[in-house]
Amino acid sequence: MYVDVLIETRVKSNDMVFTYKLPASLSSNIIGKRVLVPFSNRIVEGFVLNYGVKKDDYDVKDVIKVVDEEPVLNDELLDLGKFMSEKYLCPLIYAYQAMLPKALKANHKVDGKIKYQTYVSLNDNVNYDDIKIKSQLEIIRLLKEEKEVLKLTIKSKSSLKKLVDQGIVTEFKKEVYRDVFYDDEKKTVTLNSDQQMAVEKIINSFNKEKTILLYGVTGSGKTEVYIDVVRKALKLGKSAIILVPEISLTPQITSRFKSVFKESIAILHSSLSDGQRYDEFRRIIKGEVKVVIGARSAIFAPLKDIGVIIIDEEHSESYKQENNPRYNTLDIATRRSFYHKCPVVLGSATPTIESYARAKKEYYDYIELSKRVNEKPLPKVTIVDMKGEIKKGNNMFSSLLLDKIKDRLEKKEQVMLLLNRRGYSNYLTCQNCGYTFKCPNCDITLTYHKTSGMLRCHYCGYAQNKKDVCPSCGEVAIKQIGIGTERLEENISGVFKNAKVLRMDADTTSKKGAHHKIINEFNNGSYDILVGTQMIAKGLNFPNVTLVGVINADSSLNIPNFRSSERTFSLIDQVTGRAGRVNKEGEAIVQTFNPDHYSIVCASNHDYKTFFAKEMFIRKKLNYPPYCFITLIKISSKDFNYGIGEAKKISEFLKRSLSNTTTVLGPSIANILRINNNYNFQVILKYKKDDKLYKALNELLKIYEGNSKIKVEFDFNPINL
Ligand code: ADP
Ligand code: ZN
Repeated sequence: MYVDVLIETRVKSNDMVFTYKLPASLSSNIIGKRVLVPFSNRIVEGFVLNYGVKKDDYDVKDVIKVVDEEPVLNDELLDLGKFMSEKYLCPLIYAYQAMLPKALKANHKVDGKIKYQTYVSLNDNVNYDDIKIKSQLEIIRLLKEEKEVLKLTIKSKSSLKKLVDQGIVTEFKKEVYRDVFYDDEKKTVTLNSDQQMAVEKIINSFNKEKTILLYGVTGSGKTEVYIDVVRKALKLGKSAIILVPEISLTPQITSRFKSVFKESIAILHSSLSDGQRYDEFRRIIKGEVKVVIGARSAIFAPLKDIGVIIIDEEHSESYKQENNPRYNTLDIATRRSFYHKCPVVLGSATPTIESYARAKKEYYDYIELSKRVNEKPLPKVTIVDMKGEIKKGNNMFSSLLLDKIKDRLEKKEQVMLLLNRRGYSNYLTCQNCGYTFKCPNCDITLTYHKTSGMLRCHYCGYAQNKKDVCPSCGEVAIKQIGIGTERLEENISGVFKNAKVLRMDADTTSKKGAHHKIINEFNNGSYDILVGTQMIAKGLNFPNVTLVGVINADSSLNIPNFRSSERTFSLIDQVTGRAGRVNKEGEAIVQTFNPDHYSIVCASNHDYKTFFAKEMFIRKKLNYPPYCFITLIKISSKDFNYGIGEAKKISEFLKRSLSNTTTVLGPSIANILRINNNYNFQVILKYKKDDKLYKALNELLKIYEGNSKIKVEFDFNPINL
């Protein structure tokens, strides 16, 4: 018996498939399993792709060992890998690696340790009438309500210790299978008529390979629609995948799903250890799990008989993988929907222009939830022109925003402030000679982080200590330009001395479990103001937030990209939608230097449709998606002259090889010329349909194969141009 084995090599980008001999006794059910095989003078791991035939011209070696009891890649996934390899021109091995948990990759040790976390609970039959201290009473009240509480979520550790010492409260350890999400999400919800209609429409598409756009304004109750749809799929004996942009940012939707589907759900999130991830993967393969919820890569969950695939917040850029294989989650979902004959549901309050255009053309089915549940109005948004405020000397906060914050603090309501830039100041410059601190490896300024006293490059991670003396002219004249979330936090705390301010951005959430902690602490009212980057804009639901302030609505507008208006609209509409979601009415203040820009005006009116119409007009005029497809050829080299020279040749080659209806733009310098000492160039292809595309790109790959001086990669449907 012979098998063809795809070898996991880590260096070469070319697939290596070789034929090996296997004893007949091991050969049943072998396809998709991992095996150990000799290769040159090493032993390597590989996937069995198919049965093979012995070729006469060389000696066939034996398979040394079969690693898996059950195949890790079933027929569907084996085929899906081939589809990805062809569609994205990536090595097959990369596609399979993207699908499998790390623990299944060669040379990876599985970490199977069980993790524990400390909980506290109230002891039975204890008398706490003598307790008079407020913070201790607060803890007792909480424990009465919640029964078991994660210790780290209790703020006053000294009060807690006193209660433990007095025998009122017990600490105990509990195995954590995964992050503990809050479980106040156990509720019974009766769907309103709009939600029922949406569920009905989706169910009617069960067993059909369809894509459905569910456009529902923020707070329209999309999560409950998803839950009911999944429930119905399970009733039919089917399984379901739910994708969310980033699981640590969406603990609420996750815990809501968990409370409904309990043991039959697997939650794939980034803070699972490799061992836990591997366990979840095996539970899925064994069929113990019927529902999988997770970020992008959960689309590869090896579920059988999928009844529905739901992509929540479908506009999120996290659905595009930014390194090889640069896949688009929707492509994979669509492919799987063909295989399983099931619908793909795209949910969003701010769909991508492409998705909405496809729905309009009836290429997708369309469902609309135009009202918030309980008919709550969408928050009223006021635009403040910062040009006028600057004249009054208000650099960061308009008078209106300050008044409103003061009002909310008095009413004991909560406030969220968005500033889409982390760090303290944007960059440092010398006022005497104009010197700016730049990254030595990248063509980008360093961002000042006050907490750590460092200047950091957000591209390559380079860091150096902050200096007060200009390294160029020696003057003490360094000025901090621009604001980041750290400075916003400091300034708002300075204005409202009694307010408790919490910050959520990449710097405060780098530790495991930190997101959860911040969200929990803000939700339970320990803080008054939450300051953050776009992290706070997505999917969160804080009932007591009645005011949202956007500090600088222009930050995403100024980035040169044909999607910048769309991003701005989406960010503002989403973040203002965090206000007044449950019982209280909400409002939002948007500070901008472009008060008339259509993306800001439309977002403030929560008017997606007008925004869509205006944006489509511009996309048409400038020929951008959805009026064409874009493929980016990314060229990078350590040698500037060589890189630009080859980029020119690539552009010429493509002009010769592609149809004359395809536009070849460039070469041009990428957004940032130098990152990590690599010079980046790009050629942009715009086309509606080009039968010659793949042939030409494959030829390019051949030309540069093995050339270590240059890297040529393709990005289909790029997010950043
Ligand atoms: P969306 O995802 O559309 O922004 P959510 O699903 O987060 O909205 O719902 C907003 C809030 O309304 C949540 O607190 C949710 O529990 C609640 N909700 C949803 N549907 C109903 C319903 N039918 N009745 C009462 N409350 C609901
Ligand atoms: Zn750098």
